[in-house]
Amino acid sequence: MTTTAPATATGPGTEDVQDAGHVDVLVVGAGVSGIGAAHHLQERFPDRSFVVLEAQDARGGTWWTNRFPGIRSDSDLFTYGYRFKPWRGPSIAAGQAILDYLDEVIAEDGLERRIRYHHRVTAAAWSSDEHRWTVEVTRSDTGERLRFTTDFLWMCQGYYDHEKPHQPHWPGVDRFRGPVVHPQQWPEDLDLAGKRVVVIGSGSTASTLVPALAKTAAHVTMVQRSPSYYFAPPTTHELAVALEPLDLPEEWTHEILRRQYLMQYHWLSTTARTAPDELHAFLIEGIRPLLPEGTDVEKHFTPRYRPWQQRIAIVPDGDFFAALREGRASVVTDTIEEFTETGIRTGSGEELEADVVVTATGFDLSAFGGIPFTVDGEAVDFAERITWRGMMISGVPNMAYLFGYFRHSWTLRVDLVSDVVARLLENMAVKEATTVVPTLRPEDAGMAVRPWSDPENFNPGYVLRSQHVLFKQGDREPWTHMHEHEEEQELLPKADLDDGSLVYR
Ligand SMILES: Cc1cc2nc3c(=O)[nH]c(=O)nc-3n(C[C@H](O)[C@H](O)[C@H](O)COP(=O)(O)OP(=O)(O)OC[C@H]3O[C@@H](n4cnc5c(N)ncnc54)[C@H](O)[C@@H]3O)c2cc1C
Repeated sequence: MTTTAPATATGPGTEDVQDAGHVDVLVVGAGVSGIGAAHHLQERFPDRSFVVLEAQDARGGTWWTNRFPGIRSDSDLFTYGYRFKPWRGPSIAAGQAILDYLDEVIAEDGLERRIRYHHRVTAAAWSSDEHRWTVEVTRSDTGERLRFTTDFLWMCQGYYDHEKPHQPHWPGVDRFRGPVVHPQQWPEDLDLAGKRVVVIGSGSTASTLVPALAKTAAHVTMVQRSPSYYFAPPTTHELAVALEPLDLPEEWTHEILRRQYLMQYHWLSTTARTAPDELHAFLIEGIRPLLPEGTDVEKHFTPRYRPWQQRIAIVPDGDFFAALREGRASVVTDTIEEFTETGIRTGSGEELEADVVVTATGFDLSAFGGIPFTVDGEAVDFAERITWRGMMISGVPNMAYLFGYFRHSWTLRVDLVSDVVARLLENMAVKEATTVVPTLRPEDAGMAVRPWSDPENFNPGYVLRSQHVLFKQGDREPWTHMHEHEEEQELLPKADLDDGSLVYR
């Protein structure tokens, strides 16, 4: 275990920077990824020092910063929960229940002492001479600047900016008299009771917001440019209901339901590939009976893409459709021409009166939170780099990252990647290596380089508009990512760490 006592740094440009000491591993981010990473580190390497640096004032990432009404998972919690911590509760969970679950993990593992809140990482610099990272931090509460050093950096910063959501500019938005609110920046005191609300967007966030707002609003209109796929399962799985009277140990229930949901995911991803037309029909016919009579299903609920090319929006117990049936909400499929003083004018000239407009327009992806990285003084342009198994980056030493699944439960990948990182750290110790760098092998020279996401495979708007800032993938193992969980649960545990693509020194 390596730790050095904090001291005040000296030297040019360092006068006001506190030396925060050295740790063996430094994790960035205390969302579900960072907390999962911390659990695995603590379990596998009880003698190593590590800290988790978190920019916000609390844990939870997505589940802490998104506070819009009705926020809930659209994955089941038996697969969204970690493999090591049974989930107790309905399959689909409210945001607060997920935070409570994370709190239990933190308490049971004693992770609170590892997490430093208000610590925003602002730069990371690798030195091959010192074979370590220097990580610059600004405290968001005091403004103090700190400097940590670490042997290994584990980036769990998520995939979007929590402070700056994606907000398209619409003509006339400044003259609209009411508030324009993004779900990621929900004002605590916003009261929508009796108000006419327009929600711009479709998919998960919009279909979560609509029924929640429609409980008190005069009316909610969802305006979408194009339709999304929906699936309306019960909040609690039928199997969970059947297991309840058996009073099984919670680990068993967790594992049984986890396997059940994994089978469903695998069926979905396989059917999307082998029989997309059948899956399309299955999804559309599944919601048709839930829609108000006379709905133009072709116009409002028939997507223009193949199922699984984007995440399927889950509508637990069909509450979004109930709000439509009961006339508390409606859907308009059109472009937005402009904002007026009293609402929105659509491309086809329809006037949508609104007191409040909610822009469920999502986020832009960011590579490593936009943190500037250097390796031996050279700036790293991630857009020119290639991923190693969706968890390390070519030419960037001693750095792993955690990106979960976009279409399965994100967290399934947290456990799988953590296992590989643990094996990697063990492998370095066995070899007495201080450095590991993903490096293209001679046989990889001239390999075809492909975008971060192949639009044929996965093409939501936030991916297509952000591809240019993200790293690339190759045409062969281990330089690929975006596999299905079914495939990766076989691939990652067997990943060869000595196949020449990782150079140890
Ligand atoms: C509304 C919503 C609902 C979702 N529902 C689901 C779902 O049901 N199922 C699913 O699989 N996925 C879902 N997702 C995707 C979700 O983001 C992931 O499941 C998961 O929460 C990501 O966790 P994370 O820890 O990787 O990243 P985040 O949740 O983004 O957390 C990253 C953390 O890192 C911190 N951080 C970032 N940059 C820095 C820095 N420079 N210095 C220090 N700290 C930093 C952030 O403050 C944040 O706390 C949803 C996303 C949204 C927005």
